[in-house]
Amino acid sequence: MDIYQLLRSHLGNALRQRAFKSPWTYRLLRQAVAAQKKHYTWQAAHRLLLNTIDQAAAAFLQKGPVVWHNVFFPTEILYGLGVIPFAPEAAAVVATGLGIARGALRRAEGDWVSGEACSFHRLAHGCDREGYFPPPGAVVCSSHLCDTAPQSLETTAAYHGVPFYLLDVPHRQDAEALNYVARQLKGITFSLVESLRLVWDEDRFQEAIVNSNAARERLLAVNRLRQQRPACIRGEEAHGFIYPMLAGFGAATSVEVYGQLADELDRRNREQRRAVPEEKARLLWLHLRPYYPNAIFQLLEREAGAVVVFEEMSHVYWEPLDPEKPFYSLARKVLSHHGLAPMARRVEAILAMVDAYQADGIIHFAHWGCRQSTAGLRLLQDALRERGIPFLNLEGDCVDQSKYAPGATRTRLEGFLEMLL
Ligand code: SF4
Repeated sequence: MDIYQLLRSHLGNALRQRAFKSPWTYRLLRQAVAAQKKHYTWQAAHRLLLNTIDQAAAAFLQKGPVVWHNVFFPTEILYGLGVIPFAPEAAAVVATGLGIARGALRRAEGDWVSGEACSFHRLAHGCDREGYFPPPGAVVCSSHLCDTAPQSLETTAAYHGVPFYLLDVPHRQDAEALNYVARQLKGITFSLVESLRLVWDEDRFQEAIVNSNAARERLLAVNRLRQQRPACIRGEEAHGFIYPMLAGFGAATSVEVYGQLADELDRRNREQRRAVPEEKARLLWLHLRPYYPNAIFQLLEREAGAVVVFEEMSHVYWEPLDPEKPFYSLARKVLSHHGLAPMARRVEAILAMVDAYQADGIIHFAHWGCRQSTAGLRLLQDALRERGIPFLNLEGDCVDQSKYAPGATRTRLEGFLEMLL
């Protein structure tokens, strides 16, 4: 039974909003997941799921101030303040798995949220207004990469009547930009302390920075192990570990999960256990994947032996943080993102990934409404053509199943595989 079947069975067929607010839901769910430990191929995935249930319970049961953030905001600040972070884009993925996406998207449409906007945010809007998400005590958002998040989250903050803090990130990486972002991060941190009536705890803040560095180290170890060929983890499985990258830096639990995953990968490599019986091609995946049931990875990895050896979202693009200068180094992290500034930077990073992971081809999942990932693709395609690297731009939607066309998707993938194998 997968996690969503399990969730549905515990929450009842008609998913009631109040089930999310009952401690029994999380108690039963945790017990059920804990009992299934030995059925998990990756114990790190089991650990991650338990951590996520605990974090969801804290947010839905309002065990402390819940702060909504978009996935590019540096969460070290939130863990350092001891608040409960809640990423609506990540929660939208869970809503998709629970089968409540259709109704929530309809609600967003009814509220005049443009169908042109990214469906992660449309879905989050619908889930929130339908009462599926925990209400925020404050909302923080970074302006870099995603142009939908600032508008979507500001509207949500206004709807709930809570403070909204926007981190304005310039497209330059010079000293002035660093100071500008660092000053804002400090300002947002102490504004949260004031508006949420928190007690500032320097040690806790330092701990979040130390945790972030430790998680980074372990993720680097994971990524090094994934460079070996043949691969010992399928891309479909590895995609399950993106969550800490989007919402977990600064938490001790992310250190634990990446550490465990690195140990498991190392053991598998030494035991020569393979991701698929015969690795025929190695693929790099750009952007996110669809989160509803689909046959994409089944076709690529299990049927064709084309393993997705790395996904762009797991790329470590930043240098370690300096605990002596937390705001300055977090600003440096934000400004280091390879998707920020001229497209040449992302192209360079992707080409480096191709080399490091020995990828034979690239698939970009062009999620509907996401301009940050799709806008500069022509430049990327040109660079890949020069290097003779096959590229597929697969159009679709990560969370809106109604946009999934299984037949057309299979045809495009088969065409790509024919070129590759
Ligand atoms: S998919 Fe693109 S538009 Fe949507 S939340 Fe992510 S970055 Fe923003």
